[in-house]
Amino acid sequence: MHREMHMIIEFQELPPIGTNAIALIEPSRKECVIIDAPQEAFAWATEIAQQHDCKIVALILTHGHWDHILDGYQFVAAGIPTYGHIDDTEMFATPAKMASYAIPGLEMLPVPIDHWIKAGDLLDLLGDQLEIRHVPGHCPGNILVYLASEQAAIVGDVIFAGSVGRYDFPGGDFSVLEESIKTQIYTLPDATTIYPGHGQTTSVGQEKRSNPFVRA
Ligand SMILES: [Zn+2]
Repeated sequence: MHREMHMIIEFQELPPIGTNAIALIEPSRKECVIIDAPQEAFAWATEIAQQHDCKIVALILTHGHWDHILDGYQFVAAGIPTYGHIDDTEMFATPAKMASYAIPGLEMLPVPIDHWIKAGDLLDLLGDQLEIRHVPGHCPGNILVYLASEQAAIVGDVIFAGSVGRYDFPGGDFSVLEESIKTQIYTLPDATTIYPGHGQTTSVGQEKRSNPFVRA
């Protein structure tokens, strides 16, 4: 069955180290979902919500690394339900443990997770189904959000345009990362736009053809 593309997808690089936040906006329902919460993400998301006259109905965190969850506490304070993978529990609960990997002096507040998500989940949000795939290797709890109707995958730090996520942090492992990319990303349709956690968008076909780190 053919479906009209109906969502607007916006993404914005945010401080302090250039991490992308993504907004999935469903204008006809006046709802949006935010994926990842770098510094200033809440202000950015609030502005997007106002522009499109929509309500933020969820914050999904692709993984627990500090630069993706810094602003999470503000979404929590605003009563927005949070989603994350249980394998990153410790990072969501005590992000200050990542301080040695972060910028000195940065305040890192816990982000309580309301909904634990796992591989194969289909989240009923925005009048659509958001498919969750588990893609560890960079971080144990890294998930991606696949929106088949929009040919879009929001992947966190698993793969970037022409590169892959670091696997030298605690819980990282290149062979696991490679397996995640081959089985969970390269199996998506080639036309799928990839929204990574850092840098520009790319596509599944483009990375299958030219990513130097993981060959299709
Ligand atoms: Zn990361």
